[in-house]
Amino acid sequence: MSGERILVVEDETDILEVIEYNLKREGYRVTGIKNGHEALRRIRRETPELVVLDLMLPGMDGIEVCRQLKRDPLTRSIPIIMVTAKGEESDIVLGLGVGADDYVPKPFSPKELMARVRAVLRRGPLQEDHQARTRISRQGLVIDPVAHKVTIDEKPLTLTATEFRLLHTLAAHPGRAFSRDDLLTRVIGQDVVVLDRNIDVHVRAIRKKLGPYRDCIETVRGLGYRFREESV
Ligand code: CA
Repeated sequence: MSGERILVVEDETDILEVIEYNLKREGYRVTGIKNGHEALRRIRRETPELVVLDLMLPGMDGIEVCRQLKRDPLTRSIPIIMVTAKGEESDIVLGLGVGADDYVPKPFSPKELMARVRAVLRRGPLQEDHQARTRISRQGLVIDPVAHKVTIDEKPLTLTATEFRLLHTLAAHPGRAFSRDDLLTRVIGQDVVVLDRNIDVHVRAIRKKLGPYRDCIETVRGLGYRFREESV
């Protein structure tokens, strides 16, 4: 019972009540909000540990709320679980594309939602500043952002600057799906020196160099890529 603060944005009263009831029973402190504008205001003011966000909302929809939160450095690191209408792939892709951390398709069981909430909270916020300096290792694969070095079983790997940034971005957030657009902005951005702005080309090159660890980079169909979560 850690009492993390969770803000739930859902305009359908009965669904909101079920979610609130279940989260409170798990010991979380819950605030329920029924529209997008109000949600944005409250999240900016209260910076909860997690937001459960319905896609279809009056006023400002969930996609726009998510986009605005992820654009703002003050709220960017708050994880968001998107509740999608019918589990339609297009909605899911859209949600993850604007930076949602996970999604639960409707109709969902409270048990399923609680499991997602626990998983996302365990993963913690995207502490970008901290993670930018943290060494990441996965068995024999070690990514050292300070030394700008990647080794496999202590043998150094030669990556281009772009490949390094791409691998590090993915590996710093295991289990999180990144859209190609998001990766393009984060990794390549305004870098005019980069010859190929196609993320797939860079991923292909990295996978080849990773050899036995190539499967660490998973393809998320219709969206982009993610770094495989460590199996527990
Ligand atoms: Ca709704």
